[in-house]
Amino acid sequence: MSETSARQLRALADVPVTKLAHLGEKRAKALAQMDIRSVFDLLTTYPRRYVDRSKQVDLSDLTVGEDVAIYGEVQSTSSRQTKNGKSLVEVVVRDGDATLRIVFFNQAWRDRQLAVGTQALFFGTPTIFNGRQQMTNPVVDVVVGASGEERDPSRVGRIVSIYPASGKAGLTSWEMGGFVEESLRRAGDLADFLSVEQRQRLNLVDRSTAYRSIHTPHELVDVVPARRRLVFDEFLRLQIILALRRQRLEVDAAGVAHSVNEADLDATPGAITGEGDSLVRRFLAGHRFHLTGAQRRSLGEIFSDLASVRPMHRLLQGDVGSGKTTVALAAMLAALDGGRQAALMAPTEVLAEQHLVSLRRDVEGLVRADSKVLGGERPLNVQLVTGRMKVAERRRVLQGLENGQVDIVVGTHALLTDDVRFRALGLVVIDEQHRFGVEQRAVLRDKGRRHSAEGRDPDLLVMTATPIPRTAALVLFGDLDLTILDEMPRGRIPIATRHLATSEQETAWRAVREAVAAGNRAFVVCPLVEGSEKIEATSAVAERDRLEAGELKGLRIGLLHGQMKSADKEYVMEAFRAGILDVLVATTVIEVGVDVPEATVMVIEDAWRFGIAQLHQLRGRVGRGADASACYLLGDPPTPDGITRVEALEASTDGFYLAEVDLDLRGEGTLMGARQRGRSDLRLASLLRDAEILALAHDLAGELVAAAPFLVGHEDLIEELRLFIDDEDADFLFKS
Ligand code: ADP
Ligand code: MG
Repeated sequence: MSETSARQLRALADVPVTKLAHLGEKRAKALAQMDIRSVFDLLTTYPRRYVDRSKQVDLSDLTVGEDVAIYGEVQSTSSRQTKNGKSLVEVVVRDGDATLRIVFFNQAWRDRQLAVGTQALFFGTPTIFNGRQQMTNPVVDVVVGASGEERDPSRVGRIVSIYPASGKAGLTSWEMGGFVEESLRRAGDLADFLSVEQRQRLNLVDRSTAYRSIHTPHELVDVVPARRRLVFDEFLRLQIILALRRQRLEVDAAGVAHSVNEADLDATPGAITGEGDSLVRRFLAGHRFHLTGAQRRSLGEIFSDLASVRPMHRLLQGDVGSGKTTVALAAMLAALDGGRQAALMAPTEVLAEQHLVSLRRDVEGLVRADSKVLGGERPLNVQLVTGRMKVAERRRVLQGLENGQVDIVVGTHALLTDDVRFRALGLVVIDEQHRFGVEQRAVLRDKGRRHSAEGRDPDLLVMTATPIPRTAALVLFGDLDLTILDEMPRGRIPIATRHLATSEQETAWRAVREAVAAGNRAFVVCPLVEGSEKIEATSAVAERDRLEAGELKGLRIGLLHGQMKSADKEYVMEAFRAGILDVLVATTVIEVGVDVPEATVMVIEDAWRFGIAQLHQLRGRVGRGADASACYLLGDPPTPDGITRVEALEASTDGFYLAEVDLDLRGEGTLMGARQRGRSDLRLASLLRDAEILALAHDLAGELVAAAPFLVGHEDLIEELRLFIDDEDADFLFKS
C-alpha cells in the first residue's frame, strides 16, 4: 500500500453520498434520515448481522418451536381483519421449492413492506397451525425490496451483510450494501496511522482490510479481526482526545506546588507530636485508627501530585466504607499545611451536612498558626455553604473564605456560584463524581484561578463511591488519573444480606427490634415511587405511621425525606446519630455518605425497584462499625432483571463485582449516555467485551500524546479526530 496515494478517512467525510452512482436525490434524502450524508458515514454504518447462506436453515427442514432465521422471497401477500377487529397480514415466503406461511397481527403496514418479490430475513419460531407450519410476528430484515433495485449478481456471495435498513425511508439492506460497496471501491486504499510494526505488535489488521472485511467478508471469521481493528480505532480516538484534554489543562495550568512531606503519612495513632509538626502528622497521630494499606498508598500518590506544580486531576475510587473520606481529609490538611484552603463538594445537602459534622469531629483539637489572633494560633475552621442558608449566615461564611478565616468549606452546588471567592484555594475534593459533570469540574477549578486571590489552579480530587469497572472508568474518566482503594478497614464484618419475600418479612422486623434491644439502630428504606419527590415523601410518611403502629411499635422512629426542610433533616439525622431515635425511615436521600457506625440493620422495601448501584450504596449505610450488620431486601421481584439484581446483592458485597453485573444488565448505553458530545464514536466497541482492546488503545494514546504534544506533526490524525468532536472542543484541544 502506498501511503502517499492512500486516502484519509477524513477526506471521505467530504464526499457526499450523491457522488455515488445510482444515488439520486431521493435516496440521498432517505439516507440523510438515517444521518448518513457522506461516504465516510456509509463506511461507518456497520452490518447488524451476517447471514451465511450456506448455513441457512432450509425452509423444508424447520423444527417447530426452535428459533430460526430464514431467508426467502415473498410470493404473495394479503391482508384482512380478524373477527375481533385486529388486522392480519399473511405473507407466503418461498425459498427454492419450499414455502412458509408468515402472519403478522396488528402490523398492517407489513402489507406494503413485504410486497411480492421482496427478499427478506425472518427471525422467529415456527409453530404448527391448522396442520401447517407458520411463523407469527417474526422480526424482519428486508434485504432486497420489491421495486427491484438493480441487482448486481456479483454481490450475491455466500455471506450476506445485513444493514440497519429504514422501512420509513424505504431503504433496504440490499441497497445499503450496494452503496457501501461502491464507497469501498471508490475509497481505494485507506491511509493507516498505525505503522506496520505497531499493527504487528498489537495484532491488528490494516485499515483497508478492516473496512473491507467488516462489510464484505468472504468468510464469517474475517469479521473478527476487522472488528478488532475498528474497535481499536474507536477507543484510540477517544483515549487520544482524553489525553489531549489533560495535556491542554496541564499546559494552561498555573498549579500549586504544595509543600508536603510524605513521611508525615507514616505517623500512627498515639505518635508523639510537637509544635512544628504538620497538621497531617498531628491528625494521623491523634486519629482513631491506623490507615489501611490502600489508604496509605493512595495518599502517597495524592501527595506526590500535590507536591508537583502540575495540578492534580485524580479519581479516587473505592467501595462504600473503604475510607475515602479519611483520605480526602488528609489531603485537605496537606493543603492547609501550606497555608491554603480546601473545598469539599457534595451532591446533596444531607451529605454536605454529614461531611461537615464528621470533618469537624475529625479535626477537633487541631490548630493552625494565625498571627491575627491572640496566642498566634486558632482551631481549624470548617464551614458549610448550601443553597438554603440564611443571607446573613452565608455572607459571614463567604467573608471568611475570602479573607482566609475559613479553612475548609463543605458545600453543595451552591459552592459554584459566582460570589463564592477564596483567599487561596489549594485543593478541591468532589464527592460522588457521577452526579457532577466535566463542566462543573471546570467551574470549580476556576474558583482557584479567578475567584481566589492567589490566582492558581487548585488540585482536584474526585471521589466516587459507585465503583465502575476499570474499563468504564477509562472511558468515562480517562482524563483523570485513577487511584483505587481496594482494601476495607480491618475488622469489618461482611454485611449478611438476605432477600425476603413479602410473606417472610417478619424476619426483617424482628431483626430490627433485636438490634434496637441490643443498643443498635436500623434504617428502613421506603419503596421507590415513580412520580415526584412529593409523592415519595407522602408514602414515606405513611410507611413510618404504619410501622409505628404495627411491626415496630414501641420503637422511636424518625423520618427523613427530600421534601423536609434542611433544618428538620439535620435535626433528625443528628437525633439518629446520637441514639435519640432507634429507627430511621427514609427515602433514598440517605443513599450516600450517611455514616452512623451504630446502625446495624438495613431494611429495603421493594428492593427490586432499585438499581444495583443504589442497593449497594444503601446497604453501605450499615456495617460501618464493629458489630455485625445485616441487610434485608424485601419484596417479590416481578421481572427476571429484578431477581438478578436482588440475587447479585445477596451473593456479593464487592462493589466492583456488582458494577460489572450492573453494566451487563443495563448495557453501556446508560453509562455513556450523557458523556458524549459531538458525534458518537463508539459504534462497534463494547466496554464489557473489549476491555483488552481498550487497555491497548489507552496505552498507545498515552505514548502518542507524550511523544508528540498536541499531536503536532500528526495533522492527518488531528483531522480524523475532528470528525468526532464538536468545533468548540477541537478549538480547545488544538489551539496553538
Ligand atoms: P467511604 O467514604 O469510602 O464510604 P468513609 O471514609 O466514610 O468511607 O469511612 C467509612 C467508615 O470507616 C467511617 O466510619 C470511618 O471512620 C471508618 N474508617 C475509615 N478509615 C478507617 C481505617 N483505616 N480503619 C478503620 N476504620 C476506618
Ligand atoms: Mg464517604
